[in-house]
Amino acid sequence: MYVERLQRVRERMAALDVDVLLLSVGADLPWLTGYEAMPLERLTMLVLPSTGDTSLVIPRLEAPRVEPRDDLFEIVPWDETDDPVALVGRLAGRPRSVAIGDQSWARFVLGLQATLPQARFRMASEVTSSLRMVKDEGEVQALRAAARAVDAIAIEMRDRPFAGRTEAQVHQELVERMLDAGHQRANFAIVASGPNGASPHHEPGSRVIERGDVVLCDFGGTMQHYCSDITRMFVVGEVDREVREAYTVLVEAQERAVQAAVVGTPCEDVDASARKVLADAALGEHFIHRTGHGIGVEAHEDPYVVAGNTTPLAPGHAFSIEPGVYLPGRFGLRLEDIVVATPTGPERLNLAPRDLAVVD
Ligand code: ZN
Ligand code: ZN
Ligand code: ZN
Repeated sequence: MYVERLQRVRERMAALDVDVLLLSVGADLPWLTGYEAMPLERLTMLVLPSTGDTSLVIPRLEAPRVEPRDDLFEIVPWDETDDPVALVGRLAGRPRSVAIGDQSWARFVLGLQATLPQARFRMASEVTSSLRMVKDEGEVQALRAAARAVDAIAIEMRDRPFAGRTEAQVHQELVERMLDAGHQRANFAIVASGPNGASPHHEPGSRVIERGDVVLCDFGGTMQHYCSDITRMFVVGEVDREVREAYTVLVEAQERAVQAAVVGTPCEDVDASARKVLADAALGEHFIHRTGHGIGVEAHEDPYVVAGNTTPLAPGHAFSIEPGVYLPGRFGLRLEDIVVATPTGPERLNLAPRDLAVVD
C-alpha cells in the first residue's frame, strides 16, 4: 500500500515539476510511510527526491520507534551535535523546486530556505492533497470502522444521565468511551449545554447541565490511523417547541446535503443545498460555518464542503455533512455524519439515530 502511494506521489511530483518532497510533522508522513513524526524541537524529516533514494532523517534516540521499511526509505539518524537541517540540505541535492509539509515548523523551514537558496518552496499539499482526498477501499473500511465505534457511543449516551453533571464530566466520559471503543486517541469531545451550544467549538467546562437544556455532543478520535467525527443532540427532560421546530429543519437540511453529495457535484453545491433549507425557514443567518470538511488520516482535510469550492465530488471522497443552527445566548444545534461519495450514490458512515434524544 505505501509503495503504491509513494509511486503515485512521485508521479504527481513529476507532473508538478517538484524536485524533492520534505515531510515532517503532520499527516502526510504517516499517510505515506506509516510513521508519525514526534512534534519535537529535534527534526524528523522524510527526504523524497523525484528520482533516487528516499531518506528518513531522524534523531538517533527516536530511530528505534521506526519500523524499518527498506522498500520505502533509508533511516538516516543524526546525533545530538549534528546539524539536521544541513543533513536534509545535503540529501535534497540541488533542487529548484521543493514541496515541504504544510505544518512544518518555521525554525526548520527558514533554515532549509537558507540552506537551499536556489530552491522555490511550495506546500506539500499541492502534491499530496488530491491523492489523500480519494480514499481506497481499505481507507473507507477504516473510516467506516471508526464511524461505527462512535455510533455505538452516541447510542449508549441516550441512556446516560446528563442532568447534574458538568460538561467537563460528560466530555471525560466521551473521551474514555472512545478509547475503550478502540480509538488510539481522542481528538476532541465538545459538550456544549444550554446557551454554550451557540458557540460551535465551545470548550466543555464547569457548567452543570440542567433540566430543559439542549446538549450538543460532537466527538471524534483516531482509530487505526483514520478519524471519526459525529455530532448528536440531546435534550434533558422536556423539549422546547422552538428547539424542536429548528431541529426538524436542521435534520431536513442535513438530509438534503447528504442526498446532494453525488459524484460530479461541486462541493459548494452540497453546501448550498443545506443552506437553502435553513434559509427557507429563516434560520440561514444562524448557520455560521461551512457544511463540512474532508476526513481521513486528519480530522479536517480536503475537500471542504464550502461556498467557493468548485471541486466536483469523486468516488472515494470522504467528508462530514454537519449543518448547524446557533442562537446566541440560547442554544445551538448541529447534526453531523461522515459521508463517502460512491459511484452508486452517497454512503453515510454514521448510522446512529438522528432524532433529538430525550435524556434524564
Ligand atoms: Zn468543527
Ligand atoms: Zn464534529
Ligand atoms: Zn466535523
